[in-house]
Amino acid sequence: MTDTKHCKQCGTCCRKGGPALSREDLALIRQGHIRHDQLVTIRQGELGYNPATARLEPVPMELLKIRGQGSGWTCLFFAEAGNACTIYAHRPATCRILQCWQPEALLATIYQNTLRRTDLINPNDPILAEIERHEQACPGKEFTDLLAQADGPENLARLTELVRADLAIRADVAQKTGISLEMEFFLFGRPLFKQLAGSGVECVAENGGIRLLRKLPSPTRGRGAGGEGQ
Ligand code: SF4
Repeated sequence: MTDTKHCKQCGTCCRKGGPALSREDLALIRQGHIRHDQLVTIRQGELGYNPATARLEPVPMELLKIRGQGSGWTCLFFAEAGNACTIYAHRPATCRILQCWQPEALLATIYQNTLRRTDLINPNDPILAEIERHEQACPGKEFTDLLAQADGPENLARLTELVRADLAIRADVAQKTGISLEMEFFLFGRPLFKQLAGSGVECVAENGGIRLLRKLPSPTRGRGAGGEGQ
């Protein structure tokens, strides 16, 4: 929120993260203004930023967002030089609605009319079976719930299973199809090991695989978990 009454094009909104797409944005994708590999999927139950509460919270439904730059969340289409949107004429509906000095219109659209992966993939595409395999093997809600729960060896063992399954499916699909890392963000969302950031659980490479370690004393229930960066 600012004290202005019009957009000063300061870029603050774009630096906070790209928008979640709505069905109104389907045409932008079909016309090629926004590609699949420029999106990141926030899977149901994973932590996502809620502008209404200004907090990271489990998202109640799958969302597709414009991917960030590098490991941060600044919108991929934001150019620091000139604080400019590089797809301004074809920016998503959320960006058109947003008035930071008067956010009510935007807040009313949160989780409404949202796009999901299956809206953008041909129903006959075999990649849908891989997405389903991934959802079954490492559900976003279970991962988020485990991170928020009390410490314990069983908890850590299950988290490890989920992180390993996530990595294995990504590697398998990449090997079979040759998809880019960027497409992986669209097809399978953010890797689970990256979502451990800030959770007190560390992922370390070991013997060609990974192992999870608790870095902190037992976390308190409800502690914020992961989701920082991509
Ligand atoms: S699409 Fe354009 S206006 Fe929207 S957040 Fe990205 S840079 Fe900003």
